[in-house]
Amino acid sequence: MTDAQIQEEAKLFWAQVDKQEDGCWLWAGRKHQAGYGYFNTRGRDILAHRYAYALAHLDEVVSEDIHHICHNPPCVRLSHLAAVTHAENCRLNKSRLNESCKNGHLWCDNEVTRKDGTRFCRQCKREQENESRRLFGRSDTKRGRWYR
Ligand SMILES: [Zn+2]
Ligand SMILES: [Zn+2]
Repeated sequence: MTDAQIQEEAKLFWAQVDKQEDGCWLWAGRKHQAGYGYFNTRGRDILAHRYAYALAHLDEVVSEDIHHICHNPPCVRLSHLAAVTHAENCRLNKSRLNESCKNGHLWCDNEVTRKDGTRFCRQCKREQENESRRLFGRSDTKRGRWYR
C-alpha cells in the first residue's frame, strides 16, 4: 500500500474508535466474543489493537503479542499497548497463569491461537503426532493435515 492508502485506511480505523475521558480508547466496531476489536484491512480481519500498534510501527514486522497494559480488551490507545512474547503476555494475565489443557500442559507455554480465535495445545498436538508415527510409521501432518 502507498502512504496515501495507509492514511486513508487509518482514517476509517480511527472513525470507529470511541475515546473515553478516563483514558481508554475503545473500539466501537466489530468485536470478538472475548471483547477484542476486529478491523478489516485488505480483505482480512486483524485485531484492532494490533492494527493500532502496527500503524505506529510501520517499518517493523510486529510478531509479538500486543499486551493491554490497561487490561481492557477493546482499547486501542497506543500508550496502553506493549509488545510482548506470547508466554510473557500469558503470564501478565494472572488469572490464566495456572491454566492448563485437559492433559495438564500449561496454556502459557503451549497455546496456539488460530486465525478464527479457537486454540489448541502445541504439546498435545506434538504427542498426537508422535503417537501417529508410532502406530502408522508416518505423520500425516507432513502433508499439512491432521486426522484425529
Ligand atoms: Zn486502555
Ligand atoms: Zn496439552
